[in-house]
Amino acid sequence: MITINENYLKLQASYLFSDIARRVARFQDENPDKEVIKLGIGDVTKGLTPTVINAFHKAVDEMADDATFRGYGPEQGYEFLREAIVQNDFQSRGANITANEVFISDGAKCDTGNIQEIFSTDITIAIPDPVYPVYLDTNVMAGRTGIFENGRYQGLVYLDSTKENNFVPTLPKEKVDLVYLCFPNNPTGSTATKEELAEWVQYARENKALILFDAAYEAFIQNTDIPKSIYEIEGADEVALEFRSFSKNAGFTGTRCAYTVVPEKCVAYDSEGNPQSLHALWNRRHCTKFNGVSYPVQKAAAAVYSPEGKQECKERIDYYMKNAQLICKTMDELGYSYVGGENSPYIWIDGKTDSWEFFDMLLNKAAVVCTPGAGFGKCGNGYIRISAFNSHENVEKATLRLTEALS
Ligand code: PLP
Repeated sequence: MITINENYLKLQASYLFSDIARRVARFQDENPDKEVIKLGIGDVTKGLTPTVINAFHKAVDEMADDATFRGYGPEQGYEFLREAIVQNDFQSRGANITANEVFISDGAKCDTGNIQEIFSTDITIAIPDPVYPVYLDTNVMAGRTGIFENGRYQGLVYLDSTKENNFVPTLPKEKVDLVYLCFPNNPTGSTATKEELAEWVQYARENKALILFDAAYEAFIQNTDIPKSIYEIEGADEVALEFRSFSKNAGFTGTRCAYTVVPEKCVAYDSEGNPQSLHALWNRRHCTKFNGVSYPVQKAAAAVYSPEGKQECKERIDYYMKNAQLICKTMDELGYSYVGGENSPYIWIDGKTDSWEFFDMLLNKAAVVCTPGAGFGKCGNGYIRISAFNSHENVEKATLRLTEALS
C-alpha cells in the first residue's frame, strides 16, 4: 500500500491569498463600477529592461544555430554569470566570495525551500515571526516540527519581530542550530544594521550554528550604511549561506533566475561531530536534482551587470521606491506608525485593529487591496503589508483614497 508523508497533513492550508481573492471578487460583484487598486502583491509590475531583453533575444537566436547552440550547461551555472555576480555583488563590497561558491538556480523560493534537505531532521530551527512562509512550510514537510497549536508549530523556536525590537529579531535564549534571517524583510520591510548582523554571526560561530540569509530585496537598500550581504560581516563566510534573486532587482519573477552562495569554508557536522563541507553537500544535491537554468535566461541575467543594465535596473528600483515614499508620506500624515518603505518595497503598517478588519475597511471604503499581516504569523496580527509594486498613477490614486477613508 502506498502511504503518504504525513508531515504534509500538519501543514496549515494557506488561505491568505485565496481569502484575499475571494473578498476582492465579492467586493467587485457588489461594486461593479469601482476600480480596485491592488497593493497587496509582491510581484513587480514593470517589464524587463531594454538591455536585458536584448541579451535575452540574442541568446535565444544563438540557440537556433548549430554553431552557437547550447545543450545542457553546467548545473551550477555558466561561468560568465557566476563571475559577473561575484565581482559586482560581493567583491565590489569587500566580500571575498568566489565564482565557485555561487550556484545559479531558477528561484530563491526553490533554494530557500530545498536547502533544508542537507541538514539532519533533529536540528533546532529558529524562524522569524512574521515570516516568508517557505522557510516554515518546508521544514514542516521534512518533519522538523510537531503539530500546529495556538497559531504555531511545536518544536520550533520562533523569533518575534515586533515594535519592541524594531522588527529585527534578537538572539534566542535557547541554543539553536539553524537560523533563517531575511533583510530587507518580507513582509515587514525592516533592515538590519551591520552591528545587528554581527551579533547573529557571533552567535552562529559560538554555537556551531548556521545562518540562512535571504537577501532577495537587497537592491532596494538606499542607505549606504546598511549591509546588502551577510558576507560584509567578518567571519560570516564560515557560518552563513546567502540567497539572492533576479526577481525583484531586475523583474525576473516570470523569467526565473536566482542564486545561492555556499562558501567553501562553511561546514555542518556529522553525528560524530566531524565537520563536513556544505559546499560539497549542496553541490551534490544541486547536480543530482537540477539541470541548470536555460542559457538565454542566464545571458539575460548577466546583462543586469552591464553598465546599461545596472542603470536601467536602478531606474526601475527608483520608480518603485518613489511609490514607497508616497505611501510612507501618506501614512505619516494619517498618523499611522509603520516600518519599511525606506530600504524596501514593503511598508508594514500598524492598523491599530485586527489585520482582516483593517483589510476589509480599506477594501470597502477605498477599494484598495493590501495584505493582512496575520497571514505571515502570529506577530503579524494587527498589521497590514502594503507593496510599492504598482504604477505611480495607481499609487497616487490609492493614497488619495486612503487619505479620504482614514482621515
Ligand atoms: N525570498 C523572499 C523573502 C521573497 O519574498 C521571495 C518572493 O516573493 C522569494 C524569496 C522568491 O524569489 P524567487 O522569485 O527568486 O523565487
